[in-house]
Amino acid sequence: MTKKLFKGIFFTSILTMLSCLVLIIGVLYGYYDNRLKTELSEKANYLSCGVNTGGEGYLSTIHSETDRVTLIKNDGKVLFDNRAEAKSMGNHKDRTEIKEALKSGIGQSSRYSDTLSEKTYYYAVKLQNGDVLRVSSDRYTIWSLLLSVLQPICVIILFIVVLSFILSSSVSRRILKPINEIDLQNPNIDEAYPEIAPLIEKIYSQNKKIKQQMKDLKKREQEFKVISDNMSEGLLIVDRRGDILSYNNSIAVFFQIETDIKGQNALMLNRSESFRKVLDAVLSGNHADELYRLHDRYFELIANPVFKSDGTAKGGVILVVDVTEREAREKLRHEFTSNVSHELKTPLTSIYGISDMLSSGMVKPEDVRTFAGDIHTEADRLIHLVEDIIELSRLDEDSVPRETENVDLYELSKEAMHSLKPVATEKNVNLELCGEHLSLNGTKKILYEMVYNLLDNAIKYNKPGGDVKVELSKTAGETVLKVSDTGIGMEPQHLSRIFERFYRIDKSHSKKIGGTGLGLSIVKHAVQYHDGEISVQSTPGEGTTFTVTFKQPMGEL
Ligand code: ADP
Repeated sequence: MTKKLFKGIFFTSILTMLSCLVLIIGVLYGYYDNRLKTELSEKANYLSCGVNTGGEGYLSTIHSETDRVTLIKNDGKVLFDNRAEAKSMGNHKDRTEIKEALKSGIGQSSRYSDTLSEKTYYYAVKLQNGDVLRVSSDRYTIWSLLLSVLQPICVIILFIVVLSFILSSSVSRRILKPINEIDLQNPNIDEAYPEIAPLIEKIYSQNKKIKQQMKDLKKREQEFKVISDNMSEGLLIVDRRGDILSYNNSIAVFFQIETDIKGQNALMLNRSESFRKVLDAVLSGNHADELYRLHDRYFELIANPVFKSDGTAKGGVILVVDVTEREAREKLRHEFTSNVSHELKTPLTSIYGISDMLSSGMVKPEDVRTFAGDIHTEADRLIHLVEDIIELSRLDEDSVPRETENVDLYELSKEAMHSLKPVATEKNVNLELCGEHLSLNGTKKILYEMVYNLLDNAIKYNKPGGDVKVELSKTAGETVLKVSDTGIGMEPQHLSRIFERFYRIDKSHSKKIGGTGLGLSIVKHAVQYHDGEISVQSTPGEGTTFTVTFKQPMGEL
């Protein structure tokens, strides 16, 4: 602004001063022009009086005269000239001033020299005898005059420029000083020019408004950051080119990003086909939903475009949801369903086959009893299987609230042992219960299922004459239930898998002894339901010990 103001003042002052200079020269030139004409007319009148009274001889007395004096006869013939030989001069009848003087008594004209550098003024007066007396004078034209004073004019112009420069810079600085000194954060309107006071007031109020808006925006941005950073889902916001505008902590965790990636293209996060597909879709204004696997985890990418008022996409929001658990559950459910159908189909096929043979009379009467026994065994297995499936699905429904009570784990184990006593006797296995009466706040039915299944396995996978022992003990804040046997034991590679649904080490052996492959799954669920942990130690040929640890303290009864 200082520059602009300076330029304005500078050129205006130069223009003003130069105009003044030109005008002064013009006025002066005009003034001297008029003076010359007046002088010429006075001189011509004075000389004409002299000639009228003294005759032509009067002219011979004016040798000192600086101006040119010519006497012309009324027929145009030159009678006298103080500068040239009269006889050698041509006829003057056609000259403007002579013609005028002969006609009206006075004539005047002016003519430029051949070089145009001089101008000659003529003034002619008609004498009493009819002749004409003409006085003429030379003077410079304005251009030759200017040319002759070029040097001083250049000095004056230079002076004008320098003076304009100094004055302009000082004036422009002085004008802008109060404006530059205005503190827009806290303006003192009285100090400024009254003309710009409304503008300052407006700027001040706008400033205040913008400040408040910035504060609100910052607050909102912080709120958004807190919310988005605490989201377990990843949130990614991109512009229309796919450059990252914002992302939350979960994105950094999922994509293992350590540096700030704001402003970089979203493809630098991941270049997989699914990710590209989602990004392309959202940038072309479409919704996209893709499942995507990264570092052994599954993510669902849900993308929604953001539109401008004219309907074109100006970017998009991509939500990255970790669905590993959901996918694992889905896989488990799938496996479980196909396993259940398979497990149910096997005994049913046997029952169907045997009953078909019986009904068609293909079985000898003495074998009917054996076949009927087979049907009974298969039906029994079917019942067990259905019971276990029902129990598992019940335990799966975590959301269903169950009644809890103080359960005496010792009594519970005793009950389970009692009901399994006939099986143990049949297999010649000894049962032993030791430890304290301890109470646990839990669901009795589920805890009973847990102990029953552990005991059932310990008997089932035992050797004739073997032992099964249930021990109850407590340590600081923990209660431990141990079920150990001296049975067949397990190879170490199976230990991590025996809690999976339908996992059996020796399928045919398990089937033969009525196993469903769901017992330990039920046990694991029951333990987890009570916030406990289960571990297993086993030595093939020597025996197995299952240890259940409950974190919740148990009270002694
Ligand atoms: P099942 O109905 O077949 O017994 P479980 O889920 O109860 O199914 O057990 C899974 C597998 O773990 C069994 O098939 C068996 O091979 C093994 N197992 C479980 N308990 C014992 C144990 N006490 N001793 C040896 N093997 C066992």
